[in-house]
Amino acid sequence: MQGGLGYPTPDPSAYLYPVNATHAAPGSQASLREANRLRVLEALREQGAMTQVEIAGSTGLSPATVSNVVRDLDSAGAVELAPSIRNGRRAVLVSLATGNTLLAGIAFGDRDVRVAIATGPRDIVGRQRMPLPANHNADEGIERATRLVYDLVEKSGKTMPDVKAVGVGVPAPVDSVTGQVGSESILPGWRGVDVAQEIRGHLGAPVSVDNTANLGALGELRCGALQGVQDGAYIKLSYGVGAGLVLGGEVFRGSAGTAGEIGHLTIDEHGPVCRCGNRGCLETFIGAHALSEALAGSHGRLTLRDIIGKAIEGDPGCRRVLHDAGRHLGVALAGLVNLLNPEVVVLGGQLSLVGDVITVPMRHALERSAIPSATASLVVRASELHTDADVVGAIVAAEAVHAAAEGLLVTVSSTS
Ligand SMILES: [Zn+2]
Repeated sequence: MQGGLGYPTPDPSAYLYPVNATHAAPGSQASLREANRLRVLEALREQGAMTQVEIAGSTGLSPATVSNVVRDLDSAGAVELAPSIRNGRRAVLVSLATGNTLLAGIAFGDRDVRVAIATGPRDIVGRQRMPLPANHNADEGIERATRLVYDLVEKSGKTMPDVKAVGVGVPAPVDSVTGQVGSESILPGWRGVDVAQEIRGHLGAPVSVDNTANLGALGELRCGALQGVQDGAYIKLSYGVGAGLVLGGEVFRGSAGTAGEIGHLTIDEHGPVCRCGNRGCLETFIGAHALSEALAGSHGRLTLRDIIGKAIEGDPGCRRVLHDAGRHLGVALAGLVNLLNPEVVVLGGQLSLVGDVITVPMRHALERSAIPSATASLVVRASELHTDADVVGAIVAAEAVHAAAEGLLVTVSSTS
């Protein structure tokens, strides 16, 4: 990772990176053992409890290696072993150790929902993603998300009462007073829904709801590219564009929870009408809809994922459109940098995976438009949690809700 405004091109396979991977010194025996351990842990995380034979089949490691790795992980308390019957024969099922406290994180996108269960922000036990139809309504999204939580809990060998708290992100401003989606136009099918109450009704655990950009900032702050940062921002570049602001080492939500709506910052007051009702918002230039419209004549209908893939492969039209998007992003970022003077800006979300195609023009526009003394000390970094930042942030939020609930119980018991 480079410092200053330099910005490396991230690996497109970053979509698949494990959240809590660690990197041992390459080449050594220890690093091989570490790599094998991670392979086994990742297989258990993705596929749930398995026998050692199944782990060997799934990871491609030899049965002897799997046996050694499982013994190490068991003595470190990282896995749990339970007797079971497989194909009529006695077998030992290996699963990730969770104790009896699970946290769930749910991140809704405009077109998908991603769910994880974990014992902590760095310890994801299982995760899954499911596409959602465009303009789905809240009931449909919540129904699918909660079904994924049930599936993951079952796969981990736990039961629903083990889920102690849930963090939920939605890609729209959330009113911190009412807990409802705070814009009728940004996420229409979710208007007036009390998301926390609905999900609590399905899962039976306390729920915290926030905007996904704020959760991305929270995830990066706790275990990613914003660790130790006092004043910074996480920019989520996806179907829409949002920012999670960090001030004084904490996520700043504003007086009613809608701070950081950088996607609806006016770039051109005579520009196209935005879904929020305003004209010329940043999102009307760099949101998925705008990118796809710009390419419709030459490329037909492309999804955001298509555009990113083709740009990485070198398609000139897609690269040109993303280059222009980077320039507009730089202008908006200059406004943010002039207002907040952050130490670090982290770029996350799917679109950030194209790297230089966006970040080089972004940097030029930023340097041209922002106050030089504000950019002199500014570091722009790629997200470390990639597209998982919001899910990890949702787990952090769930952990806080759980801690608060535990604190309450302690208080009640100490006064009784
Ligand atoms: Zn707008």
